[in-house]
Amino acid sequence: MSSLLVDDIGELVTNVPTTGGGPLGLRRDVALLVEAGRVVWIGPARYAPAADRRIDAGGGAVLPGFVDSHAHLVFAGDRAAEFAARMAGEPYTGGGIRTTVGATRAASDDDLRDTVRRLRDEAMRQGTTTMEIKSGYGLTVADEARSLRIAAEVTPETTFLGAHVVPAEYAGRPDDYVGLVCGPMLTAATPYARWVDVFCERGAFDADHARAILTVGQAAGLGLRLHANQLGPGPGVRLGVELGAASVDHCTHLSDADVDALAGSATTDGPTVATLLPGAEFSTRSPYPDARRLLDAGVTVALATDCNPGSSYTSSMPFCVALAVREMRMTPAEAVWAATAGGARALRRTDVGVLRPGTRADLMILDAPSHLHLAYRPGVPLIRQVLHNGVPQCRL
Ligand SMILES: [Zn+2]
Repeated sequence: MSSLLVDDIGELVTNVPTTGGGPLGLRRDVALLVEAGRVVWIGPARYAPAADRRIDAGGGAVLPGFVDSHAHLVFAGDRAAEFAARMAGEPYTGGGIRTTVGATRAASDDDLRDTVRRLRDEAMRQGTTTMEIKSGYGLTVADEARSLRIAAEVTPETTFLGAHVVPAEYAGRPDDYVGLVCGPMLTAATPYARWVDVFCERGAFDADHARAILTVGQAAGLGLRLHANQLGPGPGVRLGVELGAASVDHCTHLSDADVDALAGSATTDGPTVATLLPGAEFSTRSPYPDARRLLDAGVTVALATDCNPGSSYTSSMPFCVALAVREMRMTPAEAVWAATAGGARALRRTDVGVLRPGTRADLMILDAPSHLHLAYRPGVPLIRQVLHNGVPQCRL
Protein backbone atom coordinates (compact mmCIF):
# COMPACT_ATOMS: atom_id res chain seq x y z
CA MET A 1 0.00 0.00 0.00
CA SER A 2 1.43 3.36 -1.06
CA SER A 3 1.98 5.94 1.66
CA LEU A 4 2.38 9.72 1.41
CA LEU A 5 4.02 11.96 3.98
CA VAL A 6 3.23 15.68 4.18
CA ASP A 7 5.97 17.48 6.07
CA ASP A 8 7.58 20.90 6.54
CA ILE A 9 4.12 22.09 7.63
CA GLY A 10 4.15 25.66 8.95
CA GLU A 11 0.87 25.27 10.81
CA LEU A 12 -1.59 22.40 10.84
CA VAL A 13 -5.29 23.16 11.34
CA THR A 14 -6.86 19.96 12.66
CA ASN A 15 -10.21 21.27 14.00
CA VAL A 16 -9.63 18.86 16.86
CA PRO A 17 -9.67 21.20 19.86
CA THR A 18 -6.56 21.00 22.00
CA THR A 19 -5.32 22.93 24.98
CA GLY A 20 -3.27 25.74 23.53
CA GLY A 21 -4.41 25.08 19.98
CA GLY A 22 -7.83 26.75 20.26
CA PRO A 23 -10.94 25.55 18.43
CA LEU A 24 -8.89 25.05 15.24
CA GLY A 25 -6.62 22.62 17.09
CA LEU A 26 -3.51 24.31 15.70
CA ARG A 27 -0.31 22.26 15.75
CA ARG A 28 3.22 23.08 14.70
CA ASP A 29 6.33 21.00 13.92
CA VAL A 30 4.16 18.08 12.91
CA ALA A 31 3.96 15.85 9.86
CA LEU A 32 1.00 13.93 8.49
CA LEU A 33 0.94 10.46 6.94
CA VAL A 34 -1.65 9.31 4.41
CA GLU A 35 -2.47 5.73 3.39
CA ALA A 36 -5.36 4.46 1.30
CA GLY A 37 -7.00 7.87 1.19
CA ARG A 38 -7.03 8.31 4.95
CA VAL A 39 -4.96 10.17 7.50
CA VAL A 40 -3.19 7.43 9.47
CA TRP A 41 -0.73 9.39 11.59
CA ILE A 42 -0.08 12.94 12.79
CA GLY A 43 2.87 13.55 15.06
CA PRO A 44 6.11 15.39 15.67
CA ALA A 45 7.97 15.87 12.39
CA ARG A 46 11.16 14.40 13.82
CA TYR A 47 9.38 11.09 14.43
CA ALA A 48 7.75 10.95 10.98
CA PRO A 49 7.68 7.41 9.60
CA ALA A 50 9.20 6.53 6.26
CA ALA A 51 6.84 6.83 3.32
CA ASP A 52 6.78 5.98 -0.38
CA ARG A 53 6.22 9.59 -1.38
CA ARG A 54 6.63 12.98 0.24
CA ILE A 55 5.03 16.37 -0.23
CA ASP A 56 7.03 19.28 1.16
CA ALA A 57 4.55 21.88 2.38
CA GLY A 58 7.34 24.46 2.24
CA GLY A 59 6.40 25.95 5.57
CA GLY A 60 2.85 26.59 4.39
CA ALA A 61 -0.27 26.05 6.46
CA VAL A 62 -2.17 22.79 6.00
CA LEU A 63 -5.92 22.78 6.58
CA PRO A 64 -8.79 20.35 6.12
CA GLY A 65 -10.34 20.80 2.68
CA PHE A 66 -13.29 23.17 2.59
CA VAL A 67 -16.72 21.59 2.94
CA ASP A 68 -19.08 23.62 0.74
CA SER A 69 -22.48 22.47 1.98
CA HIS A 70 -24.66 24.58 -0.32
CA ALA A 71 -24.27 24.85 -4.10
CA HIS A 72 -26.49 24.78 -7.18
CA LEU A 73 -24.28 23.53 -10.00
CA VAL A 74 -26.72 21.76 -12.34
CA PHE A 75 -27.83 24.51 -14.69
CA ALA A 76 -27.36 25.97 -18.16
CA GLY A 77 -26.80 29.53 -19.30
CA ASP A 78 -25.70 32.45 -17.18
CA ARG A 79 -27.32 35.59 -15.83
CA ALA A 80 -24.58 38.14 -16.17
CA ALA A 81 -27.01 40.70 -17.61
CA GLU A 82 -29.30 40.29 -14.59
CA PHE A 83 -26.30 40.88 -12.32
CA ALA A 84 -25.41 44.03 -14.23
CA ALA A 85 -29.00 45.28 -13.95
CA ARG A 86 -28.98 44.61 -10.22
CA MET A 87 -25.75 46.50 -9.78
CA ALA A 88 -27.44 49.35 -11.65
CA GLY A 89 -30.16 49.42 -8.99
CA GLU A 90 -32.78 46.77 -9.73
CA PRO A 91 -33.80 44.69 -6.67
CA TYR A 92 -33.25 40.91 -6.35
CA THR A 93 -36.52 38.98 -6.10
CA GLY A 94 -35.51 35.43 -6.96
CA GLY A 95 -37.63 35.62 -10.15
CA GLY A 96 -34.62 35.06 -12.41
CA ILE A 97 -34.56 31.39 -11.34
CA ARG A 98 -37.20 30.76 -14.04
CA THR A 99 -34.76 32.01 -16.71
CA THR A 100 -32.29 29.33 -15.68
CA VAL A 101 -35.04 26.70 -15.56
CA GLY A 102 -35.81 27.30 -19.24
CA ALA A 103 -32.15 27.03 -20.25
CA THR A 104 -31.60 23.94 -18.10
CA ARG A 105 -34.56 22.05 -19.53
CA ALA A 106 -33.31 22.78 -23.06
CA ALA A 107 -29.74 21.62 -22.32
CA SER A 108 -28.35 18.18 -23.11
CA ASP A 109 -27.11 15.85 -20.40
CA ASP A 110 -23.55 16.42 -21.58
CA ASP A 111 -23.90 20.20 -21.39
CA LEU A 112 -25.13 19.94 -17.80
CA ARG A 113 -22.42 17.43 -16.96
CA ASP A 114 -19.72 19.71 -18.39
CA THR A 115 -20.91 22.63 -16.25
CA VAL A 116 -21.09 20.55 -13.07
CA ARG A 117 -17.60 19.16 -13.60
CA ARG A 118 -16.10 22.52 -14.58
CA LEU A 119 -17.45 24.20 -11.45
CA ARG A 120 -16.56 21.27 -9.22
CA ASP A 121 -12.98 21.39 -10.56
CA GLU A 122 -12.88 25.17 -10.14
CA ALA A 123 -13.94 24.74 -6.49
CA MET A 124 -11.38 21.98 -5.95
CA ARG A 125 -8.56 24.24 -7.09
CA GLN A 126 -9.71 26.66 -4.38
CA GLY A 127 -9.56 24.03 -1.66
CA THR A 128 -13.04 22.52 -1.69
CA THR A 129 -12.93 18.75 -1.27
CA THR A 130 -16.56 18.11 -0.30
CA MET A 131 -19.37 19.80 -2.19
CA GLU A 132 -23.11 19.52 -1.82
CA ILE A 133 -24.98 19.92 -5.11
CA LYS A 134 -28.70 20.63 -5.44
CA SER A 135 -31.17 20.08 -8.24
CA GLY A 136 -33.82 22.77 -8.65
CA TYR A 137 -33.51 24.10 -12.19
CA GLY A 138 -35.36 21.23 -13.83
CA LEU A 139 -38.70 21.32 -12.01
CA THR A 140 -40.21 18.46 -14.00
CA VAL A 141 -40.07 14.84 -12.87
CA ALA A 142 -37.59 13.92 -15.61
CA ASP A 143 -35.44 17.05 -15.32
CA GLU A 144 -35.11 16.89 -11.54
CA ALA A 145 -34.17 13.20 -11.72
CA ARG A 146 -31.52 13.81 -14.40
CA SER A 147 -30.11 16.81 -12.52
CA LEU A 148 -29.59 14.63 -9.45
CA ARG A 149 -28.24 11.74 -11.49
CA ILE A 150 -25.60 14.05 -12.99
CA ALA A 151 -24.78 15.60 -9.59
CA ALA A 152 -24.41 12.13 -8.06
CA GLU A 153 -21.63 11.40 -10.56
CA VAL A 154 -19.37 13.85 -8.70
CA THR A 155 -20.61 13.94 -5.08
CA PRO A 156 -22.53 11.82 -2.57
CA GLU A 157 -24.00 15.02 -1.13
CA THR A 158 -26.92 15.49 -3.51
CA THR A 159 -30.03 17.45 -2.60
CA PHE A 160 -33.49 17.31 -4.18
CA LEU A 161 -34.71 20.89 -4.52
CA GLY A 162 -37.81 20.42 -6.66
CA ALA A 163 -39.33 23.12 -4.43
CA HIS A 164 -36.97 25.84 -5.64
CA VAL A 165 -39.67 27.94 -7.33
CA VAL A 166 -43.13 27.20 -8.73
CA PRO A 167 -42.49 26.75 -12.48
CA ALA A 168 -44.38 28.92 -14.97
CA GLU A 169 -46.68 26.12 -16.09
CA TYR A 170 -48.00 25.88 -12.52
CA ALA A 171 -48.46 29.65 -12.03
CA GLY A 172 -51.40 30.24 -9.67
CA ARG A 173 -51.55 26.52 -8.78
CA PRO A 174 -48.87 26.07 -6.14
CA ASP A 175 -50.83 23.33 -4.36
CA ASP A 176 -50.83 21.26 -7.54
CA TYR A 177 -47.09 21.74 -7.95
CA VAL A 178 -46.41 20.77 -4.33
CA GLY A 179 -48.47 17.62 -4.98
CA LEU A 180 -46.18 16.80 -7.90
CA VAL A 181 -43.06 17.45 -5.80
CA CYS A 182 -44.34 15.25 -2.95
CA GLY A 183 -45.43 12.48 -5.30
CA PRO A 184 -43.87 11.43 -8.61
CA MET A 185 -41.00 13.92 -8.50
CA LEU A 186 -39.83 12.77 -5.07
CA THR A 187 -40.10 9.13 -6.17
CA ALA A 188 -37.95 9.81 -9.23
CA ALA A 189 -35.43 11.91 -7.29
CA THR A 190 -34.92 9.72 -4.22
CA PRO A 191 -32.59 7.12 -5.79
CA TYR A 192 -30.07 9.89 -6.53
CA ALA A 193 -30.56 12.15 -3.49
CA ARG A 194 -29.29 12.18 0.09
CA TRP A 195 -31.16 15.33 1.10
CA VAL A 196 -34.38 17.25 0.43
CA ASP A 197 -34.54 21.05 0.53
CA VAL A 198 -37.23 23.73 0.08
CA PHE A 199 -36.91 27.42 -0.77
CA CYS A 200 -39.19 28.63 2.05
CA GLU A 201 -39.65 32.31 1.30
CA ARG A 202 -42.35 34.78 0.34
CA GLY A 203 -42.82 34.34 -3.41
CA ALA A 204 -41.58 30.74 -3.30
CA PHE A 205 -43.01 28.16 -0.84
CA ASP A 206 -44.81 28.90 2.43
CA ALA A 207 -44.43 27.02 5.71
CA ASP A 208 -47.31 24.61 5.02
CA HIS A 209 -45.83 23.64 1.67
CA ALA A 210 -42.36 23.31 3.14
CA ARG A 211 -43.62 21.14 5.98
CA ALA A 212 -45.47 18.86 3.56
CA ILE A 213 -42.46 18.40 1.29
CA LEU A 214 -39.92 17.92 4.08
CA THR A 215 -42.17 15.45 5.90
CA VAL A 216 -42.65 13.19 2.91
CA GLY A 217 -38.98 13.54 2.00
CA GLN A 218 -37.98 12.44 5.47
CA ALA A 219 -40.35 9.49 5.24
CA ALA A 220 -38.61 8.54 1.99
CA GLY A 221 -35.30 8.42 3.86
CA LEU A 222 -33.86 11.81 2.91
CA GLY A 223 -32.19 14.20 5.35
CA LEU A 224 -33.59 17.71 5.67
CA ARG A 225 -32.18 21.12 4.73
CA LEU A 226 -33.96 24.39 4.14
CA HIS A 227 -33.47 27.75 2.41
CA ALA A 228 -34.88 30.07 5.05
CA ASN A 229 -35.09 33.74 6.07
CA GLN A 230 -33.01 35.02 3.15
CA LEU A 231 -35.12 37.82 1.75
CA GLY A 232 -37.15 38.67 4.85
CA PRO A 233 -38.34 37.34 8.21
CA GLY A 234 -40.38 34.15 8.10
CA PRO A 235 -41.17 30.78 9.62
CA GLY A 236 -38.47 28.75 7.84
CA VAL A 237 -35.76 28.66 10.49
CA ARG A 238 -38.11 27.56 13.26
CA LEU A 239 -39.71 24.97 10.97
CA GLY A 240 -36.29 23.56 10.15
CA VAL A 241 -35.38 23.28 13.83
CA GLU A 242 -38.75 21.71 14.65
CA LEU A 243 -38.31 19.03 11.98
CA GLY A 244 -34.70 18.32 12.94
CA ALA A 245 -33.11 19.67 9.74
CA ALA A 246 -29.35 19.27 9.50
CA SER A 247 -29.07 22.88 8.34
CA VAL A 248 -31.09 26.01 7.70
CA ASP A 249 -29.40 28.12 5.08
CA HIS A 250 -29.12 31.90 4.57
CA CYS A 251 -30.45 33.02 8.02
CA THR A 252 -30.17 36.68 7.02
CA HIS A 253 -33.35 37.96 8.69
CA LEU A 254 -33.69 36.37 12.14
CA SER A 255 -35.90 37.15 15.13
CA ASP A 256 -34.79 36.50 18.69
CA ALA A 257 -37.05 33.43 18.65
CA ASP A 258 -35.22 32.13 15.56
CA VAL A 259 -31.83 32.53 17.23
CA ASP A 260 -33.10 30.90 20.43
CA ALA A 261 -34.50 27.97 18.44
CA LEU A 262 -31.17 27.42 16.68
CA ALA A 263 -29.20 27.72 19.91
CA GLY A 264 -31.45 25.17 21.60
CA SER A 265 -31.67 22.79 18.65
CA ALA A 266 -30.63 19.19 19.20
CA THR A 267 -31.12 15.92 17.40
CA THR A 268 -29.36 12.63 17.90
CA ASP A 269 -27.04 13.67 15.06
CA GLY A 270 -26.30 17.16 16.36
CA PRO A 271 -27.79 20.64 16.29
CA THR A 272 -29.43 22.35 13.32
CA VAL A 273 -26.57 24.31 11.75
CA ALA A 274 -27.04 27.89 10.55
CA THR A 275 -25.34 28.00 7.16
CA LEU A 276 -24.46 31.51 6.08
CA LEU A 277 -23.98 32.31 2.40
CA PRO A 278 -22.31 35.72 2.18
CA GLY A 279 -21.71 35.39 -1.57
CA ALA A 280 -25.46 35.89 -1.99
CA GLU A 281 -25.49 39.14 -0.04
CA PHE A 282 -22.39 40.30 -1.90
CA SER A 283 -23.90 39.55 -5.31
CA THR A 284 -27.31 41.02 -4.52
CA ARG A 285 -25.85 43.99 -2.61
CA SER A 286 -27.91 43.09 0.44
CA PRO A 287 -27.25 43.33 4.19
CA TYR A 288 -25.19 40.41 5.51
CA PRO A 289 -26.46 37.99 8.16
CA ASP A 290 -25.39 38.77 11.71
CA ALA A 291 -22.93 35.96 12.34
CA ARG A 292 -21.73 37.52 15.59
CA ARG A 293 -25.22 37.31 17.08
CA LEU A 294 -25.47 33.62 16.17
CA LEU A 295 -22.02 32.72 17.46
CA ASP A 296 -22.51 34.61 20.70
CA ALA A 297 -25.77 32.71 21.23
CA GLY A 298 -23.93 29.39 20.83
CA VAL A 299 -25.33 28.47 17.40
CA THR A 300 -23.22 26.18 15.18
CA VAL A 301 -22.39 28.21 12.06
CA ALA A 302 -21.25 27.00 8.63
CA LEU A 303 -20.13 29.00 5.62
CA ALA A 304 -20.91 27.95 2.04
CA THR A 305 -20.83 29.50 -1.42
CA ASP A 306 -24.45 29.11 -2.62
CA CYS A 307 -22.76 28.85 -6.03
CA ASN A 308 -25.52 29.48 -8.60
CA PRO A 309 -25.82 31.52 -11.79
CA GLY A 310 -28.22 34.10 -10.36
CA SER A 311 -27.49 35.33 -6.87
CA SER A 312 -23.96 34.07 -6.08
CA TYR A 313 -21.87 32.91 -8.99
CA THR A 314 -18.75 32.11 -6.97
CA SER A 315 -17.25 28.73 -6.20
CA SER A 316 -14.66 30.27 -3.89
CA MET A 317 -14.70 29.31 -0.23
CA PRO A 318 -11.67 31.56 0.46
CA PHE A 319 -13.74 34.48 -0.83
CA CYS A 320 -16.58 33.53 1.55
CA VAL A 321 -14.12 33.29 4.46
CA ALA A 322 -12.82 36.77 3.66
CA LEU A 323 -16.36 38.18 3.43
CA ALA A 324 -17.33 36.52 6.71
CA VAL A 325 -14.39 38.11 8.50
CA ARG A 326 -14.65 41.55 6.93
CA GLU A 327 -18.42 41.93 6.66
CA MET A 328 -19.90 39.56 9.26
CA ARG A 329 -17.54 40.15 12.18
CA MET A 330 -16.34 36.58 12.39
CA THR A 331 -12.76 36.07 13.52
CA PRO A 332 -10.49 34.38 10.97
CA ALA A 333 -10.48 31.25 13.15
CA GLU A 334 -14.29 31.20 13.36
CA ALA A 335 -14.61 31.64 9.60
CA VAL A 336 -12.09 28.90 8.79
CA TRP A 337 -13.80 26.54 11.24
CA ALA A 338 -17.23 27.35 9.75
CA ALA A 339 -15.95 26.70 6.20
CA THR A 340 -14.48 23.31 7.12
CA ALA A 341 -15.78 21.64 10.30
CA GLY A 342 -18.98 23.73 10.22
CA GLY A 343 -19.77 22.58 6.69
CA ALA A 344 -19.14 18.99 7.75
CA ARG A 345 -21.63 19.39 10.61
CA ALA A 346 -24.15 20.84 8.18
CA LEU A 347 -23.80 17.65 6.13
CA ARG A 348 -23.69 15.42 9.24
CA ARG A 349 -20.24 14.18 8.24
CA THR A 350 -17.55 13.20 10.74
CA ASP A 351 -14.98 11.95 8.20
CA VAL A 352 -14.30 15.36 6.60
CA GLY A 353 -13.69 18.89 7.88
CA VAL A 354 -11.21 17.63 10.49
CA LEU A 355 -7.76 16.05 10.27
CA ARG A 356 -6.97 13.22 12.65
CA PRO A 357 -6.14 9.54 12.20
CA GLY A 358 -9.06 7.87 10.47
CA THR A 359 -10.49 10.88 8.65
CA ARG A 360 -10.35 11.29 4.90
CA ALA A 361 -7.09 12.73 3.63
CA ASP A 362 -8.91 15.77 2.23
CA LEU A 363 -6.68 18.76 2.80
CA MET A 364 -5.15 21.88 1.29
CA ILE A 365 -1.67 23.34 1.48
CA LEU A 366 -1.40 27.12 1.45
CA ASP A 367 1.27 29.32 -0.05
CA ALA A 368 1.15 31.12 3.30
CA PRO A 369 2.30 30.24 6.80
CA SER A 370 -1.07 30.58 8.55
CA HIS A 371 -4.82 30.17 8.05
CA LEU A 372 -5.08 33.90 8.84
CA HIS A 373 -3.91 34.68 5.32
CA LEU A 374 -7.15 33.36 3.82
CA ALA A 375 -8.89 36.50 5.12
CA TYR A 376 -5.83 38.74 5.34
CA ARG A 377 -5.00 38.31 1.63
CA PRO A 378 -8.44 38.32 -0.05
CA GLY A 379 -8.65 37.44 -3.70
CA VAL A 380 -5.14 35.96 -3.80
CA PRO A 381 -4.78 32.37 -5.07
CA LEU A 382 -3.14 30.94 -1.94
CA ILE A 383 -4.04 27.27 -2.44
CA ARG A 384 -0.87 25.55 -3.61
CA GLN A 385 -2.00 21.94 -3.41
CA VAL A 386 -5.16 20.01 -2.62
CA LEU A 387 -5.38 16.36 -1.59
CA HIS A 388 -8.71 14.64 -2.18
CA ASN A 389 -8.89 11.13 -0.75
CA GLY A 390 -5.13 11.40 -0.44
CA VAL A 391 -4.63 12.13 -4.15
CA PRO A 392 -2.89 15.38 -5.15
CA GLN A 393 -5.16 17.45 -7.40
CA CYS A 394 -2.84 20.24 -8.54
CA ARG A 395 0.20 19.92 -10.76
CA LEU A 396 3.07 21.63 -9.03
ZN1 LIG B 1 -29.32 28.21 -2.45
